[in-house]
Amino acid sequence: MAEDTPKKKGLALHWQILIGIGLGIVAGIVLCKITPYENWYKYIKWAGDIFLRGLRMIVIPLVFTSIALGVAGMGNSAALGRIAGKTIIYYIGTTLIAAVIGLTLVNLVRPGVGASLNLTEEVRTVNAQNVSFIDQIVNIVPANIFEAMAKGDLLPIIFFAVIFGLFMNKVEIKYSETLKNLFTAIYEVIMKITMFIIRLAPFGVFAIVTNVVGKQADDPQALLAMAGSLGVFVLVVWGGLLIQGGVVLPLLVRVLGKQNPWRHISKMSTGILTAFSTCSSGAALPINIRDSQEKCGISNKIASFVLPLGSTINMNGTALYECVAAIFIAQAYGIDLTLVQQIMIVFTALLAAIGAAGIPMAGMVMLAIVLSAVGLPLEGIGMVLAVEQICDMPRTCINSYGDTCGAVIIAHSEGEELTI
Ligand code: ASP
Repeated sequence: MAEDTPKKKGLALHWQILIGIGLGIVAGIVLCKITPYENWYKYIKWAGDIFLRGLRMIVIPLVFTSIALGVAGMGNSAALGRIAGKTIIYYIGTTLIAAVIGLTLVNLVRPGVGASLNLTEEVRTVNAQNVSFIDQIVNIVPANIFEAMAKGDLLPIIFFAVIFGLFMNKVEIKYSETLKNLFTAIYEVIMKITMFIIRLAPFGVFAIVTNVVGKQADDPQALLAMAGSLGVFVLVVWGGLLIQGGVVLPLLVRVLGKQNPWRHISKMSTGILTAFSTCSSGAALPINIRDSQEKCGISNKIASFVLPLGSTINMNGTALYECVAAIFIAQAYGIDLTLVQQIMIVFTALLAAIGAAGIPMAGMVMLAIVLSAVGLPLEGIGMVLAVEQICDMPRTCINSYGDTCGAVIIAHSEGEELTI
């Protein structure tokens, strides 16, 4: 696949994306001030929508073929069991660390104490699906794989792909070879399409950011909210994410993965910036799969198992956010939480992060579950809605980066030679 790597002409892609973000901010503010049309941003949004839809278009075939091939390539189920075990331990471990960091910071800074509640927005937009833990487990087995694919439910698709890959090795060799060839061919074509879509990222990101900034730049209430205790809340979220993404995860890459964390971040920067600007770990997934293999030398069998799974269940940033937001809301309502209730919040935040989809605002929807678990008022969600976008961007970035760190650590533990 070496010939697929984009030729380095001019500026590297991550710089182009950064410029797209910067220009998007400027365009959002300037256009908001000079255009006489209300809702002008809709006319720019389409370019971002095409980019996002393009990424979503390739996720299902990419995940299905790459997991089935990866699992079939593992040969025996002992290897698969070992890798799956390590992956789950890594994901749960790092998500818990993130949640505890959030809990600690929000208790130290106490941004919600004395917060004014008159910024409450309508909560109607947030529909919490109260799915129990047992239901979440049962739903992993798809009753209809085509329905799961049509709905884009990644966990059931991953489950079916793993089973398919396992049983691909159990049929006559002529059939398993045919299937492997077919899946490899589809995978290669999808990767080519991925490369094509990724080249459009700077334009897509520009349109998305212009739209987001443009919508908010004229909203004095949102700006006012940012200045007060919500501003401190945002700082606590960003601070916690910075500790997780700038200290904890790099340390794990260094200590457990034996790699240079900063070189790893630089190699994964396209995916990280895509997650940041699109607020969707699902959108960054195809890019992460490609860069983990091509730039970091991680094998297909690990990248295609660890990353798709991570994009749906490993959400360090979301867990941290859930903890900070739930306790912020309790503080704002003057509710004193006991230690047991705070520990409950950590565990529900973990489950909420596992259950959240890799799409924008999913964490906000799951916040309702965390709040109801400890009996906090659901209306509290209205308080943090105003700053949802600027919390979603960095937490998605950490969600996605955490997956790529997992891939490095697990590849190293399996004795792979990495090229970071
Ligand atoms: N937007 C996040 C993601 O895609 C999920 C969330 O809202 O926390 O990873």
